[in-house]
Amino acid sequence: MSELPTYYRATVPDSLVQRASLRGDVHASVCVIGAGFAGLNIALGLQQRGLSDVVVLEKNEIGSGASGRNGGFVFGGFSLGEESLIRQQGMALARELYGLTTASVRRIRERILARGIDCDMVDAGVIWANWFTDDSVLHDRAAVMKSLGINWEYWSATETSKHVRSDRYGASLFERDAFHFHPLKYAAHLGALIEEQGGQVFTDSPAVRIERAVSGWIVETEQGRVHCEDLVLSCGGYLAGLDATVDAAVMPIATYVMVTEPLGEALNAVLPSGAAVYDTRFAFDYYRRLVDDRLLWGGRISIKGRSPSQVSDLLRKDLRKVFPSLADARVDYAWNGWMSYAAHQMPQMKQLRDGLWVAQAFGGHGVATTHAAGELLAEAIVRTRRGVAMSDDWNALQRYGLSSTHKPFGFIAAQLEYWRAEFMDAIRR
Ligand SMILES: Cc1cc2nc3c(=O)[nH]c(=O)nc-3n(C[C@H](O)[C@H](O)[C@H](O)COP(=O)(O)OP(=O)(O)OC[C@H]3O[C@@H](n4cnc5c(N)ncnc54)[C@H](O)[C@@H]3O)c2cc1C
Repeated sequence: MSELPTYYRATVPDSLVQRASLRGDVHASVCVIGAGFAGLNIALGLQQRGLSDVVVLEKNEIGSGASGRNGGFVFGGFSLGEESLIRQQGMALARELYGLTTASVRRIRERILARGIDCDMVDAGVIWANWFTDDSVLHDRAAVMKSLGINWEYWSATETSKHVRSDRYGASLFERDAFHFHPLKYAAHLGALIEEQGGQVFTDSPAVRIERAVSGWIVETEQGRVHCEDLVLSCGGYLAGLDATVDAAVMPIATYVMVTEPLGEALNAVLPSGAAVYDTRFAFDYYRRLVDDRLLWGGRISIKGRSPSQVSDLLRKDLRKVFPSLADARVDYAWNGWMSYAAHQMPQMKQLRDGLWVAQAFGGHGVATTHAAGELLAEAIVRTRRGVAMSDDWNALQRYGLSSTHKPFGFIAAQLEYWRAEFMDAIRR
C-alpha cells in the first residue's frame, strides 16, 4: 500500500495546499484558526461582508483535517437526526435550519460551476440504500423529509439495482440534489480565493497561545503573532489546545476511508451509477466511484485512530460483504480522519467572550453545514460590530451550547453506544 497518506493529498500538488508560515507581526480585522471548511468559509463570509483583511492560520496544510480527507459527499442535514431537530426546535425553525444546509449544497455547486473549480464534481445525487428487509425505515424517513419540505425519491429494489448491484440492499431513497467531489481540491481553491480577495493564509503555523489585548486579541505562533479585533477558533476534531472550554466541548471521533486501485469493468458491474451511496444502518458504509475508476469506500466510527493497513483490513471486510466480486481488489490508499462531535450532535457556534468566537462540532455532516456556518458566523461578527440584533437562525443555534463531553468517560460512552447500535443493526437485519 502506498505510503502517501490519502488519495486526495496524492492527487493535489504541494503548491495548492502549502503556504509560507507566519513570521513576525501581522495585523488583521479577523484571525481565523484552522483552514478546514469551517475556517475557510468563515473567512470568505467575512470578506463578502467587506472585511477583506482576514488572516487564516493553519497548523499543517490547507484542508489537512477532516475537510480534506472526508468521503466527499455534499448533502443536506446535520449529524442530529431530523426527528430530533423537529422535536427540539419546532417544525418552522427545523425547516429553516435544515434549509440552510440544502441551500449550502446548492451554493457549493454554484460556486464550483461559476468559478470553474477543478474538484472532480459528480452531480449525480446520493442513494440511501436499505440494508434491512423492512421498508418502513424508508417510508418513515421520506415522510419526515417531506415535512421539512425536502423530497427524497423512493426507489424500489428493482430501480435501486439499476444503480447499485448488491444482494445486501432492497429499496432506497434518492437525494437528487446532492453530489460528490474531491474535497481537498475544493478546499485548496477556497484558500486561494481568500488570498485573491485580500486575505492571508499561513500554513505550518500552529497557534500556540491566544491572549486578550487592550483592544481585540493576539494569537501567537512559534515565530509570529497576529493582532486582530475578532478571533475565531475552528479547529474541529483536531483540538487546538488554546481554550479548555472549547476543547472539552467536542469529542474527536475517527472514521476510516480506503481507495482501491482503478477497477474499470469490475466497478461498472457493481456500481454503474455515478451516485454516491450509503446505507440505512447506524454504522453505515459510504462509498462512491472516483473519476479515475477507483472505488472510495468509507465506514466505521471509533474513538481510535488506526494505521493504513489496519484501516484497509477492516474496510475490506465491509466491502466484501456488499460487493463480493471486489474481494481481491487492491487497496492503494487508506487513512483515518477526526470528526468533531458535540454531545447534542449539532454544530457549536458562539461568541465565547468579547471578540472570541468558536465554530466546531460539525460531525459527519460537515461539508454543507460548515458552509452554512461560514455565512452565519461571519454575519454574527458583522452584526455585533454594528450593534444589530442577531438572526433567528443564529439564535436558534445558540441553544446548542458548549457543554462538556466529559472525556475520557464520554469516549467510553460513545464507543459503547456505537457497539450497541451496531448490535441492534445486526439483530434488525
Ligand atoms: C473520514 C471522514 C469522512 C467524512 N465524510 C463526510 C462526507 O462525506 N460528507 C460530509 O458532509 N462530511 C463528512 N465528514 C465530516 C466533515 O469532513 C467535517 O465535519 C468537516 O470537514 C469539519 O470541518 P472543520 O473545518 O470544522 O474541521 P477540520 O477540517 O478538521 O479543520 C480543522 C483544522 O484546524 C487545524 N488546527 C487545529 N489546531 C490548530 C492550531 N492550534 N493552529 C492552527 N490550526 C489548527 C487542523 O490542522 C485542521 O486543518 C467526514 C469526516 C471524516 C473525518
